[in-house]
Amino acid sequence: MLLVAGKSSPEELTEEDIGNAIEFASKLYARKEWSSGYIHAMMLPNSGILMANPSMSKKRSPNAIAQNLRALLEEPEDPNAPICEICGRRHSRPKAVYRSDFPLVGTGGVPNYFPSAKDGFNVCSHCLFLAQFLPLVTYKVGRRVLVIHAYPYELMLELHKEAINDVRKSFLASTARDFKRPENFLFHLLGELMRKTERDELWANASIALYYFVNNNQGQELDIIHVPTPVLRFVAHASKKDSQGWRRIVAMGWRKRPSEEEFEKYEKSYANEVYARLLSGESILPYFIDMKDRRANSKWSLLSFYCSEVLGLDKDALEFIKNVGDKIVETLERLPDNQLSRRVRELERTEKLYQFEAFFVNLEKLRQRLGIEKPLMTFDEFATILTSYGEDLNVSWRTVKHLLLFRVYEKLHDRLMKASEEAEEEVEENEEVEIFGMGVEE
Ligand SMILES: [Zn+2]
Repeated sequence: MLLVAGKSSPEELTEEDIGNAIEFASKLYARKEWSSGYIHAMMLPNSGILMANPSMSKKRSPNAIAQNLRALLEEPEDPNAPICEICGRRHSRPKAVYRSDFPLVGTGGVPNYFPSAKDGFNVCSHCLFLAQFLPLVTYKVGRRVLVIHAYPYELMLELHKEAINDVRKSFLASTARDFKRPENFLFHLLGELMRKTERDELWANASIALYYFVNNNQGQELDIIHVPTPVLRFVAHASKKDSQGWRRIVAMGWRKRPSEEEFEKYEKSYANEVYARLLSGESILPYFIDMKDRRANSKWSLLSFYCSEVLGLDKDALEFIKNVGDKIVETLERLPDNQLSRRVRELERTEKLYQFEAFFVNLEKLRQRLGIEKPLMTFDEFATILTSYGEDLNVSWRTVKHLLLFRVYEKLHDRLMKASEEAEEEVEENEEVEIFGMGVEE
């Protein structure tokens, strides 16, 4: 209603706005593309209110649909009927409501898709009236319908504005710029929205759930995708403070890396591992570095924000790991290119904890040989390195390894790239990882 009226808060809506919305929707809903092609086919099968039931095609007209909608608004309340299960303010309609009039509830006689396993949905005529406008703002993504439910509601207006703009332009339901996957579309929209709006308070406690469904006489499918609040805050931060870095991280989420020109095509069509991990609460830390090109994908500040906001890593621990990373850089940058490259490869190839330990012991020996005064770290600090990311040692040291490699790549990328060609042969010869006590001193 707000989007049709171009207003931002419900209090501003007038009776005239409601009349206009009824007229706007009825004209569209009487068209075949909407009626049989969208409403009946995907959302409200056999809808009587919107006259999408195929048997009503002869009587269907903008006027007849508008009359049905107005009748809902004017329907008298039955004081004996139960209270509306949506608003809790008015008595529900005397007759229970089924899926032909309200999306995603059940049909008659099948109580398992209704609250408390009742037969039918108790909803008041006003709430039912509002639900009839849903098709105007949903997105058609692939073969299903996408609704982005968001808190606060201002965010929902922002995320669905595009749908209504598309409807105004083409008189057809929005196809979400031909995105084929709902989460890709959401992340794209969020990025755009975050870059253009200065209203940080929109994201502070935001919450978003995607309802991605199809509901018709042939079958029903539904995915509900929750977007965790820390992830929203991270994407907001990433889009604003380091959008290039964020783009490189996302690009790592496809099995084959897209070129700059291919990015948009990939984004529209293919599942992305980075998005999937963010939505399922798994770490995306490995995607912050590109081991193949020995490059840090983002700024340290974005990595740091991710670690503290999403992974919940302690800020002091992070700062400590960064300092250790700087000391590693300080040591390695004194080596000639090929040796530098080889040492970094040693860290890259650590798969077992003892290899990770050996890297530090060998590095300490190197520092002494190079005459660097202060040790890399104390015994206690070394213990901290191994456990600073939680109790699970196996997760912990691998996380630290990624953070350290990030710092090394960030500072030494150019030299590492320069070294990589000339060092390639030598690396082949030194294939075996140096283990403390077995390593060859340089
Ligand atoms: Zn209600």
